This record gives sequence, structure tokens and C-alpha cells, in this order.
Amino acid sequence: MRASIHDAGTSPNPQSAIRNPQLPARHLYFHVPFCRRRCSYCDFAIAVRKRVPDAEFVAAVTRELESYGEGEGGALDTLYFGGGTPSLLAPAALAELVARITARRPLAPGAEVTLEANPEDVTPEAATRWQGAGITRVSLGAQSFDERVLAWMHRSHGPDAAGVALDRLRAAGIADVSLDLIFALPAELQRDWTRDLDRAIALEPAHVSLYGLTVEERTPLARWVSRGATWPSDEDRYAAEYLLAHRRLAAAGYAFYEVSNAARPGHRSRHNTAYWTGAPYRGIGPAAHSYDGATRRWNLAAWEAYRRAVTEGRSPVEHEETLTPEQRELERVYLALRTAEGLDLRPSVSSVSPVPSVWLSQGWVELCGARLRCTPEGWLRLDALAGALTGSPRTG
Ligand code: SF4
Repeated sequence: MRASIHDAGTSPNPQSAIRNPQLPARHLYFHVPFCRRRCSYCDFAIAVRKRVPDAEFVAAVTRELESYGEGEGGALDTLYFGGGTPSLLAPAALAELVARITARRPLAPGAEVTLEANPEDVTPEAATRWQGAGITRVSLGAQSFDERVLAWMHRSHGPDAAGVALDRLRAAGIADVSLDLIFALPAELQRDWTRDLDRAIALEPAHVSLYGLTVEERTPLARWVSRGATWPSDEDRYAAEYLLAHRRLAAAGYAFYEVSNAARPGHRSRHNTAYWTGAPYRGIGPAAHSYDGATRRWNLAAWEAYRRAVTEGRSPVEHEETLTPEQRELERVYLALRTAEGLDLRPSVSSVSPVPSVWLSQGWVELCGARLRCTPEGWLRLDALAGALTGSPRTG
């Protein structure tokens, strides 16, 4: 899965100087770093393992959770297992972890508990045991329904696996399922994006997440590009595929509530919405991020370094970054413009530059009362629009 939506900063801090913050976060994220193999485009901090060290992982993250003390109690609105590939954890280990978490942080009534899963891991038994453990929502890494494309991506599943997984999840009582799809693939793959979208829609998932392919350093894809074996998609193709997804998903009853996420009514991701609305969240596990409304912290990314730190009783936090008022304002504007609710322009809330009239005439934004909302065309220019409003050019 490629689930991280956090922007990692770079200001180093000695671990000894880092206190364990006491956050009232009602949103808890667990990062499960293990994968069977590295997908061709993925630069995430993962640990490729044939055998997942379930017991060590559960012990390590439990230890980190407990290090935050009794002050960080209270019910959770959302709990999210992301990765990596959380579905590689044995169902019994996942159930044990959920039990340990909820013994400390009970779930609020109707809490959303999400598990990221690769389609090939969704056996009937696993689906049933996940449901029994309290998982209410599954995010499936489908990516494509084209066998050739899946092989190029180094994915482990075939073109029919996502549909089979969805059926098994529904049979087990987990109807809230999201599909991840990747668009803007290299032209020479001749990927039929319309066909993939239509296959996804035919499965009637509750939610769809889109990821535009980017070439990240130190990935197999970057090596292929550097030796001229493939070329990234150009901007026109990226835009055309993004806009096509909007049209097709909207026609099928999905509403884009965020730049990359579309849902049927009542099926927005509440966990990710918390990130986009600036709510505090706690991240546990290697490379996990936390935010308390002012300071971001992120953990050691490598599994072994993380495990050693928590096992030896040291803080696993690698860096922290306290946002300046300007950074917080840019972040607030950027996050608001990512969402369908848009940015509140009332002077008491926002102190941004006037909205250029050309944005309206070009159809990049709409004004709905005092709210400024991006259209799909505007979302393609999100960084530039947010940067212009705050006078802080943003590149990524
Ligand atoms: S499954 Fe693939 S894309 Fe997801 S984290 Fe693992 S290597 Fe990366």
C-alpha cells in the first residue's frame, strides 16, 4: 500500500531531547512495514520479509503505545492499520493487537477501524477473523485489473483477485471496502485506464482512492527511467486520466470529497478526513507520524532500528518539527483546498491573498458563499493555487 499522506520535514532532533507528548488524539495509526516484495514504484520504508515477525511486531508497537502513558487515554474515533502490508500479519496477531489497543484506548461507538490489505491475502478465513477482531473497513490495493500492468508493478496478485477479495470481505460482513487504483502509467504499457475504471466501478466498492504514478528515487522504476527503458507519463496524460476518473466515478454515484478520494454517500474515510482537517493524530510503528496541532513527530523508518529503540526503552521518534505560524497557515490552506468543503475565506478565519478572477474564469475554483472550492481542474493545480493564496510557493 502507499498510504502515507504526511509531509515529512527534516529538522533533526536528538532522541534524548524528545519527550513523549501527551496528545488527546482520537485517531490512531499503526504502521505495519512488512511486504512480500517491493513494488516497482514504491519508495516507502518497508521491510521485505518472507515470514512476518508477528510476535515481535505486536510486542514492539504495544511497547510504544504504552510509553505514551495513562495521560493519552480516551476513546478512539478511528484506528487505522496501514503499511507496508498489514494484511500479512497473521489474523491472530492482528486480533491480539486490536485487543491490546482497545484495552487501553476503547473504541467510541461506531468507530472506524481500517485495515489495508493486498487482494491475495483476503482468504475467507482471514476476512472472517478480521471482522471478528473488529475491523470495519478494508482498503484494498487493487491498482489495476490488467495482468501485464500488475506484473510490471511487481504486484503479487492477478487481475481477478480484487473482485474475489471484495466478495470474501462482503461475505464476512465487511461491506465498507475501498479500492486503490494507480493512474498515469508510462505510455508504452498501453494501459486501458477506461477499462480499469469500469472494472473497479462494476465491483461497486464503497470508496475509491486514486494515486498518480510518480517516479521516486531508489525504486526499480527510477532505475528503469534512468537507463531509458521507460518514461514517466507526461502532464497531459496525467490530467486526462485524472479528469476521466472524475467523470466516470461521478456518473457512477461517487463524490470526490478530496483530491484523490471518492466515496459513495456515507463512506468517506473518517481517519483520512481527520488528517485533512488538521485533527491531532498519533502514529505508532516504524516511520509513523504524529501531529498534536502544532508539532509533527515521526518515528525511525527502518523496522530493525525502530524495534531496537523501543525494546531498549528509548524513544523511537527520529525527528520533530514545530510548525511556524506561516507553515501552519500554508498547511491549513493546502489541506482545506484538498477537500470538497474547500477553504473558508471569511477574514476572521483566513488571511489569504485575494482570489484571482482568472481562476474563476478558467474554472479552476468555485465560490460557494464564503468557501473557495477547487474543481477537478483546480485540484490538478493544487500546489500552485495554495502557494499563490499564501504567498508561499509550494512544490510538492
Ligand atoms: S505493497 Fe507494494 S506499494 Fe504497498 S507498501 Fe508494499 S511495496 Fe509499497
